[in-house]
Amino acid sequence: MYDVIIIGAGPAGLTASIYLKRANKKVLILEKESIGGQMASSPLIENYPGVNAISGSELANNMFEQASNLGVEIELDEAKEVQITDHVKVIGDSNTYSAKSLIIATGSKYKLLGLPNEENLIGKGIHFCVACDGSFYKDKVVAVIGGGNSAVVNALSLSEYVKKVYLIQNASTLTCEEMLLDKITKKDNVEIILESTVKEIIGDDELESIVINNKGSNKTLKIDGMFISIGLIPQSDIVKDILPINNYGYIETNACETNIPFVFVAGDCRDKRVRQITVAVSDGTLAAMGALNYLNK
Ligand SMILES: Cc1cc2nc3c(=O)[nH]c(=O)nc-3n(C[C@H](O)[C@H](O)[C@H](O)COP(=O)(O)OP(=O)(O)OC[C@H]3O[C@@H](n4cnc5c(N)ncnc54)[C@H](O)[C@@H]3O)c2cc1C
Repeated sequence: MYDVIIIGAGPAGLTASIYLKRANKKVLILEKESIGGQMASSPLIENYPGVNAISGSELANNMFEQASNLGVEIELDEAKEVQITDHVKVIGDSNTYSAKSLIIATGSKYKLLGLPNEENLIGKGIHFCVACDGSFYKDKVVAVIGGGNSAVVNALSLSEYVKKVYLIQNASTLTCEEMLLDKITKKDNVEIILESTVKEIIGDDELESIVINNKGSNKTLKIDGMFISIGLIPQSDIVKDILPINNYGYIETNACETNIPFVFVAGDCRDKRVRQITVAVSDGTLAAMGALNYLNK
């Protein structure tokens, strides 16, 4: 019986494990893919305080080393089912685990366009987060894919320092709020391209251009960077029958607490406004403190 099982070894889960292990708790992290979560796929992180610039994989490795040196157990196993009685049972692919308390830190995934070459070029011209990677494109030409609030906010933010933004939307209108629509249409360096889809991504080691299709006719756009802003998929399925989930699939919490006194949620899978490493780390701390309070009672 563990004191706490943490599902997900992204920055939220790893942070929670460090706090819990330093308080002498028996902690297990279950991870289905790779240690570090989304963070590990970022080529360069320049907004984590105290570290000027670091690759995501190195930051992930540092967090992992800190946790495992303290004695946190990490199993590469996918949590398939969570059962709640007076304690927690997590059924994994290869084992079943029990604990007094649970932290869900399963994160989210950016939606992709589903094109060949796309995954290869993530971090090499293809990005998702303007706050993270926008500054690499000062005075360059970029495309933002999408037409909802987050795409338009991303295009507005990029337009402040890039040379040109193509905002490419498959529908016949942008679907953002009126106020954003008003702002974006006044931007001289933003070209809004409607009713168009990205058909091809060109580039071997770096993104070079994209081919877009409008009502049957193709056009090639030479761009330096592309920000895909078509939404996120929260990884909340395993708790959908246990915890309240909002319309977008995020787990609803009160800060990181839930209506089950020994179940906590941390990081990008949680209903909140900002999804960044600093916020995931902060959530991991809150969830760990909540679990400690519960266990120490
Ligand atoms: C390419 C890229 C670049 C980014 N750059 C930056 C940046 O520069 N600065 C910044 O602040 N943020 C950046 N972000 C965002 C940042 O990485 C995330 O906000 C952060 O990683 C969220 O942390 P998390 O721990 O909540 O979730 P995640 O990092 O998503 O980790 C969740 C983990 O849970 C695991 N998991 C999910 N379900 C299960 C299951 N059932 N069983 C076991 N394991 C499971 C996943 O495999 C994953 O490893 C970037 C994101 C991406 C994709």
